[in-house]
Amino acid sequence: MNEAFEVLKKELPGLQKNVLLKDHTTFKIGGPAEYFFIAKKKEDVERAIRVAQKLTLPLFIFGGGSNLLVSDAGQKGLVVRMQSGAKTFALLPGNCIRAYAGVSLSDVVLFSIKKSLGGLEWAGGLPGTFGGAIRGNAGAFGGEVKDSIISVQAFDDHFTLRNFTNAQCKFSYRSSIFKEKGWTIISATVALKKGNKKELRSVVDSRINYRKEKHPLEYPSAGSVFKNVDVKKIPTEFKSTFLDKIKKDPFPIVPAAWFIIGAGLTGAKIGQAQISNKHSNYIVNLGGAKAQDVLQLIQLVKDTVKKKYGIELEQEIQYLK
Ligand SMILES: Cc1cc2nc3c(=O)[nH]c(=O)nc-3n(C[C@H](O)[C@H](O)[C@H](O)COP(=O)(O)OP(=O)(O)OC[C@H]3O[C@@H](n4cnc5c(N)ncnc54)[C@H](O)[C@@H]3O)c2cc1C
Repeated sequence: MNEAFEVLKKELPGLQKNVLLKDHTTFKIGGPAEYFFIAKKKEDVERAIRVAQKLTLPLFIFGGGSNLLVSDAGQKGLVVRMQSGAKTFALLPGNCIRAYAGVSLSDVVLFSIKKSLGGLEWAGGLPGTFGGAIRGNAGAFGGEVKDSIISVQAFDDHFTLRNFTNAQCKFSYRSSIFKEKGWTIISATVALKKGNKKELRSVVDSRINYRKEKHPLEYPSAGSVFKNVDVKKIPTEFKSTFLDKIKKDPFPIVPAAWFIIGAGLTGAKIGQAQISNKHSNYIVNLGGAKAQDVLQLIQLVKDTVKKKYGIELEQEIQYLK
């Protein structure tokens, strides 16, 4: 038995060794985590961070694994998966909800509807945890996490637990201060508005149904691979080609899928990874795909789109190597 494992096991009851991360990602891709621990509450996360620091082990925080491509070799050090535990929601005065970062975003949405509170309906069907969504300022259907957040509790570089106001979170398109600095979010509070339970439920259902219809949910994936393209970044000679594709989400963009379709890459396949025929900004795992297959497809898309349109597509999914 190695010494680090003994210390970790003592400090983090339930810790496991060599856990396949493909079983913890929506892509169903990824090799083993050297050490793997499920953190169900703030104190679990705190202990995990402290012990990783003490042992100078690399530490990686996992949420729902829905925005990650994990390498085939897996991850050295300690992977901490934040997952929902008991009593992780609180209804606060002023139509506010506070939740632990490890709860799934869909549970936060469901809880808000149960309390007849509106503001998160856009997130219906969006996978992952509350914390993961805050870190990446997740968004869909014109809504974003930043629209409802009033405060976030996170550990900073000095391992101090701090409260951040919405402005201090420095939210931007698919980003936040937590993403920039690599800080771990522990909990957050959203401010919502009183609404009609039935109507709120129906909007959430319509979002879920839209995803079922338009997205290739029948295959494992990590959602959209590339960020949508800011209209300002489209070279003048191609602006007219994509004029009727412009959407406001939340600023004028052209969905990345249109450039992939235009480049003739829909359906392209490397190994068991394929650019979805249903939604060209998705790469799907047809069964047993390797991270290397996905990386090669990503490179193919970047190179072809750059050559054809002069646009550098930016990756939305994170590669964990
Ligand atoms: C089918 C499908 C559809 C999707 N649709 C959308 C969409 O419409 N809009 C959208 O924005 N995204 C979408 N996504 C992407 C993904 O669901 C979001 O990015 C989600 O918010 C990621 O959360 P997660 O908990 O799964 O994070 P993970 O994938 O586990 O982690 C992503 C990053 O967040 C970090 N992280 C996780 N939890 C914390 C925490 N508590 N504190 C600090 N850092 C943390 C991780 O370290 C990692 O760097 C989709 C994904 C899939 C599979």
